[in-house]
Amino acid sequence: MRKNVVAGNWKMNTTLQEGVALAKEVNEALCGVTPKCDVVICTPFTHLASVNAVIDTNKLGLGAENCADHKSGAYTGEVSAPMVASTGATYVILGHSERRQYYGETSEILKEKVALALENNLTPIFCIGEVLAEREDGSYNEVVKKQIEEALFHLSAEEFGKIILAYEPVWAIGTGKTATPEQAEDMHAHIRNLIAERYGKEVADNTSILYGGSCKPSNAKELFAKPDIDGGLIGGAALDAASFMGIVTAF
Ligand code: PGA
Repeated sequence: MRKNVVAGNWKMNTTLQEGVALAKEVNEALCGVTPKCDVVICTPFTHLASVNAVIDTNKLGLGAENCADHKSGAYTGEVSAPMVASTGATYVILGHSERRQYYGETSEILKEKVALALENNLTPIFCIGEVLAEREDGSYNEVVKKQIEEALFHLSAEEFGKIILAYEPVWAIGTGKTATPEQAEDMHAHIRNLIAERYGKEVADNTSILYGGSCKPSNAKELFAKPDIDGGLIGGAALDAASFMGIVTAF
């Protein structure tokens, strides 16, 4: 059966020193509890190796927030999937709405990134989600369907089985405006149906689908109680160890 996962997405926050201190705090907090979910932190590239050195990766998974769509070569400033893997990280967030919106990431580019992540034994946390206008005009189910079909449905069932999905309605990210548990559950059930249609019920039942967008200790319990919500991708609240742990222990 699928795993519950709570993953932090630190975005472009914390210096190296602050990041290492935060990772240590989360790691220590986890030593006192047996969470009912896998716990992951996704940090800036610059922090990965140092964070890996101070955490117990059996308890706390480590991931990057992106990787390049090429393996190596003349791509100044890019960081490849093999480089990420060489730090000890085992996850990578791909297709975050901020990457799609500000860095022009298309489904074609994301296909390459997914392939390289899988080749390098990185578990993609693949983000999908509609913008406010698409929520309001009612096209959100179609939009998310297209995002998943275009970037992921060429994968074999075995490959698809390695992906974690994160539904993040863009209008809820960093806005303090969470999707209601019902809105989130409706979308998660829709996504699971799409997976079942493409890969069958077993693969669909085994796929973890996280919710992201202003998830915090005060609303996590209600969201995670929904049958198709298997955890969260946490931005702002992941930057404070106590808040992050409040979400981790919401299961
Ligand atoms: P937020 O971000 O929790 O700050 O809304 C979530 C995300 O973008 O992954």
